[in-house]
Amino acid sequence: MALSAQAWEQMWAPYDEPTYTAVLDAIRPDDVVLDIGAGDLRLTRRLAQRARRVYALEMNAALLPPAMTLPPNLHAICADAHFYPFPTDVTLAVLLMRHCQHVAVYAEKLRAVGCRYLITNARWGFDVECIDLLAARRPFTAVPIGWYACSCGATGFVPGPPEKLTLSVETAVYEVTGCPHCDRQAVNCKSGMVQYCQNTLYK
Ligand SMILES: [Zn+2]
Repeated sequence: MALSAQAWEQMWAPYDEPTYTAVLDAIRPDDVVLDIGAGDLRLTRRLAQRARRVYALEMNAALLPPAMTLPPNLHAICADAHFYPFPTDVTLAVLLMRHCQHVAVYAEKLRAVGCRYLITNARWGFDVECIDLLAARRPFTAVPIGWYACSCGATGFVPGPPEKLTLSVETAVYEVTGCPHCDRQAVNCKSGMVQYCQNTLYK
């Protein structure tokens, strides 16, 4: 039987130290950070040592430590990131969730509140990257050859003639919209939201 995204995530979390370090190194002292799917706050506490303020969103109340044990600039919120309105002062978001299929939903909500950066391992499934959410994106059809990463969260490679496969082509990544996976990601998001709705009702 295929494992659910949640089951995969439990196999990978908590992440290793190089993953956390890659996230922490990107934090500036004046950042207001939103940690999506913050778990037991082991990374969020370290984020709070570097950033001005940190919001932690976690659906599972059992994972969250008592509020009185948290530093004053760390606000833990037990809520579903799909539905919880993102704070309007967020400058940078963290999404450590290799198998997250809702990157497009979160990215859109972050753009709507003016958040510029999303640090995540969800698009490539391994390394942490910092996505500039406000950067211009080219249409997928304008990629001649090479790697692409789409606003829907999908990644892939547009093939082309072997003579055009240079080292710069192999290492560059085009930020795009409208890739062939956009429709499928939208379906995933919708079905994910139905599942979350049912969970909420069940509680
Ligand atoms: Zn896409």
